[in-house]
Amino acid sequence: MKLAKRGVVTSTVKKIAKDEKVNAERVRNGVAKGKIVVMEKGEEVCGIGAGLRTKVNANVGTSTDFARVEEEVRKVKAAVEAGTDTVMDLSTGGNLEAVLKRIIRASRVPVGTVPVYSAFVNSFKKGELPREEDILKAVERHMQLGVNFVTVHAAMRRKGLDLTKSRIMRIVSRGGCMLAAWMMKNEKENPLYTNFDYLLELAEDRDVILSLGDALRPGCLSDSTDRAQMHELITQGELVKRAHERNVSVICEGPGHVPIEKIEANIMLQKKICSGAPFYVLGPLVTDIAVGYDHISSAIGGAIAAKAGADFLCVVTPSEHVALPRVEDVVDGVVAMRIAAHAADIAKRMDNEVDLEMSKARAELDWRKQFDCAIYDKKAREYRKKRGSRSRACSMCGDYCAIKIMKELEGVSAHSKDEQYRPGKH
Ligand code: SF4
Repeated sequence: MKLAKRGVVTSTVKKIAKDEKVNAERVRNGVAKGKIVVMEKGEEVCGIGAGLRTKVNANVGTSTDFARVEEEVRKVKAAVEAGTDTVMDLSTGGNLEAVLKRIIRASRVPVGTVPVYSAFVNSFKKGELPREEDILKAVERHMQLGVNFVTVHAAMRRKGLDLTKSRIMRIVSRGGCMLAAWMMKNEKENPLYTNFDYLLELAEDRDVILSLGDALRPGCLSDSTDRAQMHELITQGELVKRAHERNVSVICEGPGHVPIEKIEANIMLQKKICSGAPFYVLGPLVTDIAVGYDHISSAIGGAIAAKAGADFLCVVTPSEHVALPRVEDVVDGVVAMRIAAHAADIAKRMDNEVDLEMSKARAELDWRKQFDCAIYDKKAREYRKKRGSRSRACSMCGDYCAIKIMKELEGVSAHSKDEQYRPGKH
């Protein structure tokens, strides 16, 4: 941000502008104003924010029940192959630092983490709560290990925590609940809030993006857009200003569970209160009863949110609320959220070139080209291979393929207007 404010167009900004087919000066200006954040990992660059393609993040990570590093590495690779823009390691099981190192190595795309997990999980193993300095050290350690962005739930304050008392589901954020326990036991303000200047110093030194977590995000439709959520949002706005003054790029995290009619208002409020900082929404899920299919519920919410201005969508998998996802669940979640992001981008930027190519390929029954245009072709290729058709059509309509019939009719009418059409004859 410091370089962008000075008018320097860095190589990262140039690469992002080229990838996104936008003017590099526009990206620089967005970074300078805090409306765009940029990340780089090896050859990969990722820009998130105003005027750029909507990005998608996939969560991976061990739990206390399943602490299998190899499986998490497979999830990272599958999520990247399915097109996720970033990956977050949310591990809470096993040796957390060893897992994070493996995930950073395995991921081609930028990596984010929630460092408070390390501080709390390591202390819980000893039967105690972490000290304030343990929490800050965990943030520093993750930055040292080379992550691109860290979630810090710095905007949850004592007052906001009190406001959750009237909720159906008080706190559903894992990091938020750990910090809430610390605040309640110690009867103190959130250490990430009171030490925010120190976090900015760390982020500035290491050029790491701070993602302001939403510890008080609603966990059900009934709690959506309530006073606790708004209290945290207002504090996020204050922290965004302090970060921008210090030249630290920040993202704001947001809900959660939100009924469709409130999504647009949530995005407008965040953009206004948080000075246009990129908005990272966790879904949002538009119904509480899609258990087993929450990737669909969140993709519906994600598409509406992105159309209204959200910049970064967090993947929700089909196993959300029930179990740690498997590799295939992560892939289904990534693809669902990429569809949501792309659908919103079409509406926002009329970026529908590939959709037009797909339509032309469909009209020609050109299967190879259709798979090339697909957002993720693996499943479609499998269907075609296993349940294809004897003819150029597919087995959905077989001989009665409307596209094939209309093409043949065009051929017939070009030769003889009177010739009767019969399926299969042509
Ligand atoms: S068979 Fe039916 S579903 Fe398949 S390509 Fe033809 S019209 Fe489309």
